[in-house]
Amino acid sequence: QRGLPLAQSLTSAPAPARIRTDMTLSAGEPSALAAVSEEHVAAGFGCLKIKASAAHDTVAGLRAVRAAVGPAITLRVDANQAWGVETAIRVIRAAEDEGLGLELVEQPVAAHDLDALAAVTAAVDTPIMADESVRTARDVRVIADRGAADLVNIKLAKTGGLAEAFVAAEVARTAGLGVVIGCMMESHVGVTAAAHLAAAVAPDVVHDLDAALWLRSSPVVGGVALSGDMLELGSGTGLGITALASDTRPDALVDLSEVRA
Ligand SMILES: [Mg+2]
Repeated sequence: QRGLPLAQSLTSAPAPARIRTDMTLSAGEPSALAAVSEEHVAAGFGCLKIKASAAHDTVAGLRAVRAAVGPAITLRVDANQAWGVETAIRVIRAAEDEGLGLELVEQPVAAHDLDALAAVTAAVDTPIMADESVRTARDVRVIADRGAADLVNIKLAKTGGLAEAFVAAEVARTAGLGVVIGCMMESHVGVTAAAHLAAAVAPDVVHDLDAALWLRSSPVVGGVALSGDMLELGSGTGLGITALASDTRPDALVDLSEVRA
């Protein structure tokens, strides 16, 4: 519809003016994770996503983070396919037994192995989110039919654009799967589109759109504005992007070698 922000043209319900995002922490030693967590909470983030890796003791890291930030902060884990079924179940159950309060665990096992993903989902109480296992709406349907996950992380770079992502979210919702909108390491333009989709399809969820925060400057004028853990959509037409920024030097990009989406 003409003149509307994209989010509002995607839904008949009133689209929110802002959505929340988590903040991602790279895998690390417990003391370092705790220190970074405190910084992000002080900056206004209420949901931290901690990367797991085979090289680090995930439970020890989570224990340190939880002790540092207290009970009110939401903690997620993204294993990025790092574990096998037995490791995943052991780590997640250990976190449960310690009462570390994980909201969800993302992609614990290899993307192609839906049997393994389903086995983990069945064995633990913590909700499991598929990320690399899901690209298209059809993948969401397969995940739902096989009970392979409780939630799906939908990204525009995986679906190939907004139309397929919207359908994927609809399929998930109809099947009773939770939806989180995520992004790759992408620019303000991509994150803005993802934020509008997120506002339309899952306005009350904390999304996974912190990539916008990793850029030193935006290549465009307009789009989402960042405030603490909020992405403000703005009231402009479409994405609210009005011009190219005048300064788009290559060094506007930060060093992303340590970061994976
Ligand atoms: Mg992920």
